[in-house]
Amino acid sequence: MASIELNKICKSFGHVEVLKDIDLSLEKGEFIVFVGPSGCGKSTLLRLIAGLEDISGGDLMIDGERVNNVLPAKRGISMVFQSYALYPHMTVYENMAFGLEQAKLDKSEADKRIREAAEMLQITPYLERKPRQLSGGQRQRVAIGRAITRQPRIFLFDEPLSNLDAALRVDTRIEIAALHKRMAGVTMIYVTHDQVEAMTLADRIVVLNAGRVEQVGTPMELYMKPASRFVAEFIGSPR
Ligand code: ADP
Ligand code: MG
Repeated sequence: MASIELNKICKSFGHVEVLKDIDLSLEKGEFIVFVGPSGCGKSTLLRLIAGLEDISGGDLMIDGERVNNVLPAKRGISMVFQSYALYPHMTVYENMAFGLEQAKLDKSEADKRIREAAEMLQITPYLERKPRQLSGGQRQRVAIGRAITRQPRIFLFDEPLSNLDAALRVDTRIEIAALHKRMAGVTMIYVTHDQVEAMTLADRIVVLNAGRVEQVGTPMELYMKPASRFVAEFIGSPR
């Protein structure tokens, strides 16, 4: 059974159709990267999967269940945003605890999860700080840590590295790859417009162009057999 299945997914904002007949089947535990130019619909597709936007047409299935009308909190999904989306008035610990309180998780279990995630991401020394007292890289680790504590079956990343400087981007990318290995069976979808990130992280890449899927394949398949000039230029295939 597929982890996530998109059947003829469409999305319009008013009269503007931004996603057109998206068909995709993602396996459990896969690391999928959505790439494509700015404005092609990557974030919108991610937000539809997370339940943060309504679907205009088609069916979205998670673990075989149709979830078109299932609330975001009930989908078993954690999402990490480019902007971190931390609460500025809360400490790191409180930021990580907030979603768990909402989910009525037992306090000691929540504490255990927070401390484990903090250790994994090396943010234990910052648990009592406010987000503004952290660097961009540390803030993004907190956002990733918060996502981990929810023990999702699906992890979504929307350009998580774009606000970081070059060296931190490499470090954090390596950490995300390690996280995927560690969280066996968790499906990850990672949005980027950076070819290097896509080629190094992905089990399979989905190339989007103007709201449609151009090609789906492993990094090597796309590199060696691009289906169009668009894919070739995007991936940097030899000509
Ligand atoms: P990407 O993440 O690939 O850069 P987006 O998914 O953010 O692209 O946007 C795809 C298209 O949908 C763009 O043309 C954008 O302007 C439009 N769009 C996104 N969100 C909205 C919205 N809430 N209302 C109207 N148009 C939107
Ligand atoms: Mg985007």
